[in-house]
Amino acid sequence: MDKSKELYYYSLLEDMTDMMNDPDNFDRDAFIRVLTRFAEMFNVAKGVTEFYMSLTDEQNGYGEKLIDYDNGHGDKEIIRRRIVAHSGVVLICTFYAAEDAPELPEEDLKKLDLIARMILGLVSRNRLIGVVEKLGFSDEQGYPNYRTFLRYIQAVNSDGTLGGRIAFKYNLKHFGLVNQDVGRAIGDVVMRNHFELVSSVVGNRGIVCRMGGDNFIGMLDRKDLSSLLDTLKGVPIVYDKSNQKRVMVRASVGIFELPTPYRFDDPDDLMDVLMPAASIAKNGSGDGIVFADDKFMKMKQNSMMVQRNFPTALAENEFLPYYQPQVDITTGKTVGAEALCRWKKDGRLIMPGQFIPVLEQSTDICLLDFYMLDAVCRDIRRWMDEGSPIVRVSVNMSRKHLIDVDFTDHLTAIIDRRQIPREYIEIEFTETVDNAGFGELKQVVEKLRAAGIYTSVDDFGAGYTSLALLSDIPWNIIKIDRSFLPVQGKDDRDILLPIMKHIALIADELGMSCVVEGVETQEHEDIMREYNCRIAQGFYYHRPMPVTDFEELLLEENG
Ligand code: C2E
Ligand code: MG
Ligand code: MG
Repeated sequence: MDKSKELYYYSLLEDMTDMMNDPDNFDRDAFIRVLTRFAEMFNVAKGVTEFYMSLTDEQNGYGEKLIDYDNGHGDKEIIRRRIVAHSGVVLICTFYAAEDAPELPEEDLKKLDLIARMILGLVSRNRLIGVVEKLGFSDEQGYPNYRTFLRYIQAVNSDGTLGGRIAFKYNLKHFGLVNQDVGRAIGDVVMRNHFELVSSVVGNRGIVCRMGGDNFIGMLDRKDLSSLLDTLKGVPIVYDKSNQKRVMVRASVGIFELPTPYRFDDPDDLMDVLMPAASIAKNGSGDGIVFADDKFMKMKQNSMMVQRNFPTALAENEFLPYYQPQVDITTGKTVGAEALCRWKKDGRLIMPGQFIPVLEQSTDICLLDFYMLDAVCRDIRRWMDEGSPIVRVSVNMSRKHLIDVDFTDHLTAIIDRRQIPREYIEIEFTETVDNAGFGELKQVVEKLRAAGIYTSVDDFGAGYTSLALLSDIPWNIIKIDRSFLPVQGKDDRDILLPIMKHIALIADELGMSCVVEGVETQEHEDIMREYNCRIAQGFYYHRPMPVTDFEELLLEENG
């Protein structure tokens, strides 16, 4: 080989090495060009690479055969190189010459062999990356998976351009029902079409990946957010084009608008914000769209604080009953009280609004309710022992208790253990936004009544006000929600007051007494007189107070 040919050979080898070192930008055309030059140089008529995923595939001939170069002049094998990679993948590179071509000198064969090995190195690297991509970055149905998402956000993170983008995670609502409706196979088509639709909204400005099941995660440009939300709120997905069969697909979604600038040390930092928003979107009572904004983060922090501290707080008696008197407006005297929970933590009083809703998310609320009932029984026991005046005390019970079949037994056991006459205790259940568990509620109230314990329906009129709740359940007391009373400056009494009037009448008819909640003014008291409601609970008379203050009040009134 003369000098200039030798130089040319090395420059081509260099081109090939460059390609090997930069497999991400592999350009097949450039590769073929280099191969063609080599072929011409060594009188090669045809170059073929073969690729098999495994030895078995090779034996069975299941693989890919790529003809890299072919001038149509021959198939006399001159060089054949075969490698088996660690992963078990088999690669073969073969060069052919024309039948009548002269034998190549030893030196040229060596050079050609080097080329064959380089081709294998290059192909294996590219193909293996392809295989690894397929196995590692998409799921069994071919959706890009969570690792693809991580790789994407890590890349954007290192570019420093995460700030201002939107991370989102969504869950298809009731997709099990869609599967039931149209069958699993068509369900897959629906999911795929929905995914394609979301992907088209996101475009090449972001990414959407499947996390598993009907959970998806992605990132998009701020300007595409409203289109995304429109799509996720609900879109009809066509699954049979021939007769336009469609199914409605809705999703719940958690959204995290990344601040500008934003950079994470660990992708978990981002996930720690996004995931809770998505989970509340999925399980909460709202419209299924939850933004992980400052308000949300504070809420999240608060609920973590409550959950973390609850067990010790309970063990250390940090929860206290405060007593709010219920007043007979005709005499001005206290005729009952409601026990309201306060959490005394590090010398500070925490109000129930901050911890009850958190505890309501688990059965922790039941522990607190029984604790409160016991604390109230302890106070009443003391009043009895000291010969102090006593009124009936009502205790709030979460509806979560209704799943406990032995609830009434647990409750009476607490009262009886302190030997408290049962008529001193009243149990409040709130009316809820829906009517779930109506049957259980009815049973429990009937059992409590039979056990001689008073019951009341709390916040009546605030939620899903159902007259069946009054006519079918034998309550002793209806607590009329304060939302019926006019608010200063807001003139809606015309609509609400007639309803309140009739609730009071119905209660009377059914032999139940009424307590009006949230009585704050003389005007409110006047309304009560007009409607013959006698018992009031509200700031106009007393705020909830510590037990010692309450004892003093009773002593004063009876002294
Ligand atoms: P609730 O059972 O309806 O209790 C009445 C709430 O209204 C109390 O709030 C009371 O302070 C407030 N209130 C009383 N009079 C007035 C008034 O004139 N104006 C206004 N604006 N508000 C008034 P609190 O103590 O913050 O309790 C809030 C809720 O937390 C309670 O509403 C009850 O649903 C729940 N809760 C409190 N303690 C317990 C408990 O031990 N167990 C359970 N399950 N829930 C509890
Ligand atoms: Mg109450
Ligand atoms: Mg109430």
